[in-house]
Amino acid sequence: MSDLVFLGPPGAGKGTQAKRLAAARGVLHISTGDMLRAAVAAGTPLGLKAKAIMDSGKLLSDDVIAAVVEERLAQDDCSAGVLLDGFPRTLVQAELLSGILDRLGRTLGHVALLEVPNDELERRMLERAKEGRADDTPEVIRRRLEIYAEETAPLIGYYDERGLLRRIDGLGSIDEVTERVRSATDGDSAA
Ligand code: ADP
Repeated sequence: MSDLVFLGPPGAGKGTQAKRLAAARGVLHISTGDMLRAAVAAGTPLGLKAKAIMDSGKLLSDDVIAAVVEERLAQDDCSAGVLLDGFPRTLVQAELLSGILDRLGRTLGHVALLEVPNDELERRMLERAKEGRADDTPEVIRRRLEIYAEETAPLIGYYDERGLLRRIDGLGSIDEVTERVRSATDGDSAA
């Protein structure tokens, strides 16, 4: 049973689609953003460290987030395969993930990339900012898009070279995109 990675810029609808895909396949949806927000809410040492970094739109250090993911993937409920959302986010994290999967005897299936043009991303995120998330102010949104372009976008080439990448058009209704995600990741052993 292999794991899936969901990749895409902030505001692409990655979280929504990742949840739907995980439910359809009966695998766990592991979102590092959700895990960190839960840690912040619970006031754990990780949460205390993460809060200011998240609020500014920056990334936690690769080692810290990789340790969080490794501990989570080692748990029994992950044995049937997981869908990773929000990790890896840098090339260093992609290499760290490869080591984690090796150590745990897991394999990576596809990497689904949700593609949405930048102007549409900004529009959607400013809309969502009205819901009041601390990391959704215009300045932080621009910072997160920049960090995505600099740090995360190189993963596209990295996984493409390895033959794992599946590109998905993220424009359209949520249901239309869900259907594209489903067909793009069909035939994956996490099914
Ligand atoms: P998005 O809205 O882009 O999907 P997430 O909910 O995945 O954002 O993550 C929110 C914040 O949590 C990020 O901006 C970052 O500060 C932190 N974070 C999440 N995943 C990682 C990661 N893999 N590496 C470093 N920081 C992370």
